[in-house]
Amino acid sequence: MNSISVFLIYLLLFFFHQPKTTVNMNTKIVIAHRGASGYLPEHTMEAKSMAHAMNADYIEQDLVLSKDDIPIVIHDIYLDDVTDVATKFPERKRKDNRFYVIDFTFDELKTLQVTERFNPKTGKQVYKNRFPKAKGNFKLHSFQEEIELIQGLNKSTGKNIGIYPEIKEPSFHKNEGKNLTEIVLKILTDFGYKTKNDNCILQCFDAKELERIRKKLQSELFLVQLIESEEALQQLKYFATYADGIGPWYKQVLDTKIDDTWQFTSLVADAHKLGLKVHPFTFRADSLDEFSTFEEMLKTLLIDGNVDGCFTDFPDLAVDFLDK
Ligand code: CA
Repeated sequence: MNSISVFLIYLLLFFFHQPKTTVNMNTKIVIAHRGASGYLPEHTMEAKSMAHAMNADYIEQDLVLSKDDIPIVIHDIYLDDVTDVATKFPERKRKDNRFYVIDFTFDELKTLQVTERFNPKTGKQVYKNRFPKAKGNFKLHSFQEEIELIQGLNKSTGKNIGIYPEIKEPSFHKNEGKNLTEIVLKILTDFGYKTKNDNCILQCFDAKELERIRKKLQSELFLVQLIESEEALQQLKYFATYADGIGPWYKQVLDTKIDDTWQFTSLVADAHKLGLKVHPFTFRADSLDEFSTFEEMLKTLLIDGNVDGCFTDFPDLAVDFLDK
């Protein structure tokens, strides 16, 4: 074989070896917020399977530790607004009348029935047209179990859908004598999520913790800094020293509507100048607020506002929109 053909083979191998996951970072992505949570109780395996079938690019996991140090996929440090904990373990509430994930072992958590989100004071479900409260048979699960589900579905369907885990309340965990971040990073490494090419985006609201993940713990993962407060908007330059993207509230991208046309804040342009992707939350077809249709919301933010992705409870609608 002459040197030119060796070179050509080399070139071919090079191109065919590019992981297809990197493509996701260059196009707009749909993140299934707590799974397909517009249709099934949030963070259940059923909601995650449905999101996978709907071809979301990423499926989100919120992570809180159990008493025996197992990361549980659940939105809050509390159990009483998505499970029947108050009737199964009435004596286990704290002084503030709330039930904490961290006070229960994994085996105990597995006995709880998960339901559509409701207000524990009134008993009313939050989104009234969603899956009926207290119906069906849904359970809590661990982060490992969910990764096995998504990686299993990726294998059986030939898709390559990513994960988008969130470290919840690191300082609360620290006060309880626990270190959620190290436990999560170890699981990610064990399952092959190590670099920005591994189809995993790690998110956190706590800037000091996310900075520590990059600088002290030397993570090479794609990191997204979530933004809650207006003050945090002034810290983009600092975020860019360790993060690859930001996750703002969508209203922080929007300005006012003038003559039927939405104006935008400088957030997206400022972030892009610093090389940061922008993934705002949360796009809900049944909670439109200032928009008249979900289509208008998708077009306004994803196209006119030029954000790079969205967290949505309705991944099928966002995928359909971007396909068009
Ligand atoms: Ca989250």
